[in-house]
Amino acid sequence: MFRLVFYLFLSVVLISIVRAILGVVLKGFSSLFQTAPPAHPVTRAPLPLTGELKRDPVCGTYTVASNAIQHSVKGETFYFCSPRCRDQFVAQQR
Ligand SMILES: [Zn+2]
Repeated sequence: MFRLVFYLFLSVVLISIVRAILGVVLKGFSSLFQTAPPAHPVTRAPLPLTGELKRDPVCGTYTVASNAIQHSVKGETFYFCSPRCRDQFVAQQR
């Protein structure tokens, strides 16, 4: 009778150990998956920086096209780092 209780206790302990290990492994996996999505935008973010860099014709600063101030002259689009540069450029065009 004592043996049966012992084995029952042993199996419960073993199951809890296996559960703990599985929990740690699953936690590790979930943390892997949790860190993966934030890593994605971080690796994606520099893409427009490198892909769509436009040179400000006034001050020579390279600006991201999506964030830059755009101004079209005769169908050609110019990109500026600030409205000041654009205004200076527009003034030069006259
Ligand atoms: Zn500028």
